[in-house]
Amino acid sequence: MSDRRFCPWCGTDQRGRDLTDEERASGAWGNTTHFSNTIGVEIRGVYDGALFWRCPGCGGSWHRWPANHPLHVKADQFVGAPSALQQATVEWIAANPPTYRFEPSLPDDPGEIRRRLEVLNAELAARTRVEIDPNVRVRGNQTRTGMRYVHGPIAVGDTVTVYEPEADLEGYGAITEIDYNKQLVWIWVNWASVQPRGESHG
Ligand SMILES: [Zn+2]
Repeated sequence: MSDRRFCPWCGTDQRGRDLTDEERASGAWGNTTHFSNTIGVEIRGVYDGALFWRCPGCGGSWHRWPANHPLHVKADQFVGAPSALQQATVEWIAANPPTYRFEPSLPDDPGEIRRRLEVLNAELAARTRVEIDPNVRVRGNQTRTGMRYVHGPIAVGDTVTVYEPEADLEGYGAITEIDYNKQLVWIWVNWASVQPRGESHG
């Protein structure tokens, strides 16, 4: 495991607040004396868990897994200087575009169809909603919005529902970068999916 105490890019001490006596006594955090501010970045579809570490200050990232570990290889493309994660994430999303996961052929069994629709509806209901301005286009196909327009939890690589309340437009995109200092979020948007609500998303 890599040392998490200092960011290798900006040198910031990553220690957060002290554990309380009660928290130490619980043993849940082992011999740890402080919480860490380091962000464990999960990339959906690559690994269900923290794939690598990210500094909340500068955005630089570094390895969580040792060099001979399979997840180290998977994390390699995302780890690096502050700009590397954003670029790698955009490339990964472009190669693995998020979808609504409609299956090409539905089963004959009505019970199975209903079950799949329930799963799909639950996924859509749980998806974080982000208010965007469709006129704001940055970095090619992306948009940018303030953290206060994000309604729910987000991580880099997450699929989110994007919407524009005035024209009642809705579609989907994926988080490509989160800047905690500037309170800004960058989103790759499937602009073709951004349609008046209630119409088919195809
Ligand atoms: Zn840093």
